Amino acid sequence: MSLSRSELDQLMPSTRAVHAGKGVDAAEARPTAAPIHVATAFSYPDARMLDDVFEDNSRGYVYSRYGNPTVRSLEQAIAVVEQCDEAIAFASGMAAIHAAITGVAGPGAKILASQDLYGATHALLRTHFASINMETHFVDMLDLDAVRDAATAIQPAIVLAESISNPLIRVTDIAAVAEIAHGAGARLIIDNTFASPVIIRPAALGADLVVHSTTKFIAGHGDTTGGVIATSSRFAGPIREQAKLFGAVTGPFDAFLAIRGLKTLDLRVRQQSRNARKIATTLTQDSRIERVNYPGLGSAVPDPLFLCEDRGALLSFEIAGAGREEIFAFMDALKLCIPATTLGDVFSLVLYPAMSSHRSLTPEQRHAIGIRDNLVRMSVGIEDPRDILADVNQALATATG
Ligand code: PLP
Repeated sequence: MSLSRSELDQLMPSTRAVHAGKGVDAAEARPTAAPIHVATAFSYPDARMLDDVFEDNSRGYVYSRYGNPTVRSLEQAIAVVEQCDEAIAFASGMAAIHAAITGVAGPGAKILASQDLYGATHALLRTHFASINMETHFVDMLDLDAVRDAATAIQPAIVLAESISNPLIRVTDIAAVAEIAHGAGARLIIDNTFASPVIIRPAALGADLVVHSTTKFIAGHGDTTGGVIATSSRFAGPIREQAKLFGAVTGPFDAFLAIRGLKTLDLRVRQQSRNARKIATTLTQDSRIERVNYPGLGSAVPDPLFLCEDRGALLSFEIAGAGREEIFAFMDALKLCIPATTLGDVFSLVLYPAMSSHRSLTPEQRHAIGIRDNLVRMSVGIEDPRDILADVNQALATATG
């Protein structure tokens, strides 16, 4: 029940200030953009209606940690773009990865994971999950024989990989890994952050859970942090229930920014990928560069895994003969590309994995998985590729003397 205007007019000024302005009927407004619902809790005309919503007998919202209309809009949109039954949004990509793992397995379960994962995911598995008796066996996910042997040996409950890996830009054969995982009775979790659903849709290739850091391409403008799991109804229910208890849910404003970003995701990622391929191809011809990592570089063969001709906006490269000092000099000399610990934004970004994304690994662990001290990762933006290349060129000139 809400107070009428005449009832409000009879109240004291302090009470009026708190309760006035609630008479606007949201059903009268049909906004063309998703509204930001900031309310912590939602009320109903009578207690029985609220009880029905609590009991799931009727649809509605009770409390924003349980569900929020803006967040639900984001979840629906992600489910559509990843072509899954449902999606559940989280406060960050790491919260989504954590929830995906705890949503399908518990203490005692084994995890088979790709050896080149985002550094924090690596650390989460080695520290937190190991401490609750969920041991991870790391494997080269591109070596399918090794994956098959490990799956047979350890009988994992979960196989975890990135569609395109961070920072070596290696591409997982999701369909083949899904077959191995399912053959061993495991669930396949794919972190699709680097690819985005524009480039690869893991669920269509057999992944059971698809995870994103929406902080990256989906939101796309470097101004929000969030994560999401897209999956089938079978897994979504228990994960949503856990999310209510663990509470790492996203807020409505962050959800709004991710929804807004999603609208231009396809345009942005296609342009960024076109630019990235151009930059990767140019760098392969540069004698100052020892090695360039970009999917399908130099190959004209279409890969059925990829939904676009260009294969994502991420590349990494090794500067010949460089160490930490030369990489620092390269990053400091950049004027257009921004050295920052993120990716997927409209502007070009560079990152030194040994210093940031993979800092939590020891040098030995980094070298064992192929992350050398002269490796730079680049997330290409929507700028004109000639300007990006000119900036990289002048920074290389400074760094390499
Ligand atoms: N997955 C990948 C591939 C990432 O690169 C990152 C962050 O860089 C994450 C997950 C974690 O995302 P967030 O920072 O939103 O927690």
